[in-house]
Amino acid sequence: MQLYSTGNRKVKTDFRTAVKRGLAPDGGLYMPALLPRMPESFWQEMIGDPLNIKARKLFDVLLLDVFSENERNEIVERAFTFEAPIVSLGDKMHVIELFHGPTLAFKDFGARTMAAMLSVFARQEKEKVTIITATSGDTGAAVAQGFHGAAGVEVYIFYPSGQVSPLQEKQFTTMGDNIRALEVDGTFDDCQRLVKSCFADPQIRLNKQLTTANSINIARLLPQMVYYIHAAIELNAKSEGHFTPSGEVEKLVCSVPSGNFGNLTAGLLAFKMGLKISRFIASTNSNHVVPDYLDGGKFQPKPSLRTISNAMDVGNPSNFDRMLDLYDHDHDAMARDITGAWYDDDLTRQTIVQVWDHHRYAMDPHTAVGYLGCKEHMSDDEQGLILATAHPAKFPETMNELLPGIVETPKRLTEIASRKKESVPVPAELDAVRDVLLKN
Ligand SMILES: *Cc1c(COP(=O)(O)O)cnc(C)c1O
Repeated sequence: MQLYSTGNRKVKTDFRTAVKRGLAPDGGLYMPALLPRMPESFWQEMIGDPLNIKARKLFDVLLLDVFSENERNEIVERAFTFEAPIVSLGDKMHVIELFHGPTLAFKDFGARTMAAMLSVFARQEKEKVTIITATSGDTGAAVAQGFHGAAGVEVYIFYPSGQVSPLQEKQFTTMGDNIRALEVDGTFDDCQRLVKSCFADPQIRLNKQLTTANSINIARLLPQMVYYIHAAIELNAKSEGHFTPSGEVEKLVCSVPSGNFGNLTAGLLAFKMGLKISRFIASTNSNHVVPDYLDGGKFQPKPSLRTISNAMDVGNPSNFDRMLDLYDHDHDAMARDITGAWYDDDLTRQTIVQVWDHHRYAMDPHTAVGYLGCKEHMSDDEQGLILATAHPAKFPETMNELLPGIVETPKRLTEIASRKKESVPVPAELDAVRDVLLKN
């Protein structure tokens, strides 16, 4: 697989370099130079396969020239260790639950796959890779769990002291081994600034091979294509009456709760490979710069607002450049495939209660935003698929207020809460951070 940067389509980069860099040197995001359009038989042959087999078949196509067959197997076996069940709410609306991984959110797919890929690279090059990442909570958890025990990879998570929830903090300060948490005496912005300064610091660069693990990394997007493929294939196969494989367009609309739009971009990549999805709904909370663009044609980044679906509180979505690139900056073409929708916290709260009342199904606030988009915008001749991005137990305050006593906390979370926190306290200064990094 060759990649180009959204900053310059002419320069091609190999996959390994793109994963190790994260961001292209020109500041652009990496995109696959060629996404093969797969024949109907490719999709048909996947019907009934579990998620990990579908992942293998996809990686066999996309990463054939990057990893050997054994390496592709190793990556899938390490990353795809849990299923993504599809739950139906009535005949026409379906939810794919992407939260059965260790941190109970869909980010586990991307983090675990990227960790496995970096381990393979580190082994081939006999050189250790150092991941540094700033977190306000969720990314740190997914990265810590995903990279824990990854051979040849060490991880430093920078987080603002006292500013992440106690449970989130436990998720990345209790792993030990190759995962270290730097508890920064400062804000999340300080953490981000420190990460950037590390990348620019000659002394650190001389000693460490640095990379980041945030959602701009192409290694996080590819595994996210797999669950779109899974859902579309299985739902289309089930409703063969209306959806003949060779006949009319299969009408399945996907509603994606979005923040940085990595998840939606992964869906678009699968769509480009010929997966039978009719269109997408970009569902957001009050941070609605992309729905505004889709409605009116202007993209205007804004400071982010705080909401109850906080993982989507993004005012300048980093993957928007990828979406523009996929549509050659043609607004109307993008708006034909993607409908924007946004909902405030009040409506999200009401929806969580209503869905419980009607279907006895408890949704987290992010998924509820996706449900709203689906409900408002799907038409009579479509089926809807909602991506459930997090387990409701991750949001105890909201869920206990709206549905008291309903959501059970999975063992994984209660178990983590009882472990002992280990962090390295540091002032928000590069000198102190450098000392910690170079000591190890
Ligand atoms: C990260 C996250 C999102 C947003 O995903 P993007 O790929 O950034 O659009 C939505 N829901 C949850 C629970 C998340 O953690």
